[in-house]
Amino acid sequence: MASGGRSQPDRCPGVLSVHQAADGGLARVRLPGGVLTPPQLRVLAEASRDLGDGNLELTSRGNVQIRALRAPEELSDRLYDAGLLPSISHERVRNILASPLSGLDGSYDVQPLVAELDRALCASPRLAGLPGRFLFALDDGRGDLAAIEADAGVRVVGEQLALLLAGADTGVRLAPPEAPEALLRVAEAFLEERDGEWRLSELADGVEKVLSRLGYSRSSQQLVSGREPVPAGLYGPDLLVATVPLGVLKQEQAAVLAEADQLRVTPWRSVVVLSGDAEKLQEHGLVIDGDSPWNRVTACAGKPGCAKALADVRADARRITPLMRKGRRQVHWSGCERRCGQPAGEFVDVLAVADGYSVDGSQAVSAEQSVMRMR
Ligand code: SF4
Repeated sequence: MASGGRSQPDRCPGVLSVHQAADGGLARVRLPGGVLTPPQLRVLAEASRDLGDGNLELTSRGNVQIRALRAPEELSDRLYDAGLLPSISHERVRNILASPLSGLDGSYDVQPLVAELDRALCASPRLAGLPGRFLFALDDGRGDLAAIEADAGVRVVGEQLALLLAGADTGVRLAPPEAPEALLRVAEAFLEERDGEWRLSELADGVEKVLSRLGYSRSSQQLVSGREPVPAGLYGPDLLVATVPLGVLKQEQAAVLAEADQLRVTPWRSVVVLSGDAEKLQEHGLVIDGDSPWNRVTACAGKPGCAKALADVRADARRITPLMRKGRRQVHWSGCERRCGQPAGEFVDVLAVADGYSVDGSQAVSAEQSVMRMR
């Protein structure tokens, strides 16, 4: 086995392969490019109300989860009818991120390439065998997806697209229409080379092996590193980004979002909203203030959803976050050392331990005391 080889297949949940968590079934719905129509959001919210715990969870890959699921077959029927389950065989491999504001704020629109990639991915029987962790990303040039380090990505550079593998610029440049095919070939080459690995970065010399199979050679051209994720805020008279605190979207919040013309789920637990009612969104607890601490706090499921959890981290984070000062440091609350959902890059590590919380490895303190160590 190669150095990064895994002895187990990945267990990423889907709609048809529901994960059994401590609070019931957990289904994950892929949204290539983060695109979710308002009617589809209503279908998801109603499904969670009728079949799950009533909430929708936004994930770090711009997908949506339903927890405490009681009737998986009924969920898949509803999602199929709503166009949210276009491929039975490929549902877990449709992991495609796109710059969330792409094409909406005057930037290059990568969404047509996302749609083409998704269609071609689902049409390839072989690529149904990709690990559920393998990630595609299409960056409109602003570099907002750089920190995510997708396995196979492109980034707009002038009139061309840079091919990025495992997050790094290969120096290969493509014309935009070539991108979907090139990304599929990267995925196929990874499948040929892998020995159980889930991600390209786990495969020894993976980037070189893939480039060689594609007949490309790495050049010394290097893009400068990317920028920050797109923060919450107003981006024009009709365009805004709203953070969903802890990524848990409640029924009434989903209902207000579904009044907008267009929605895109971001990988930062927020939603791009075109022609929505900013005031109403804020009244319902969604955050448009870019300085709010809610923009930089994430938490794993914790108790009662996860059997491994030592604390109800989301309840504690909800209590403590309003006490936090304005600042830039990302904070992640974890119910155990697996730190599920931890953000890319540096963050304040608030970890549940037997007698409280350890902050960045400190001695255990209470949740209330932890806020003193987040500065
Ligand atoms: S970090 Fe631990 S407690 Fe939290 S969801 Fe993951 S396994 Fe469960």
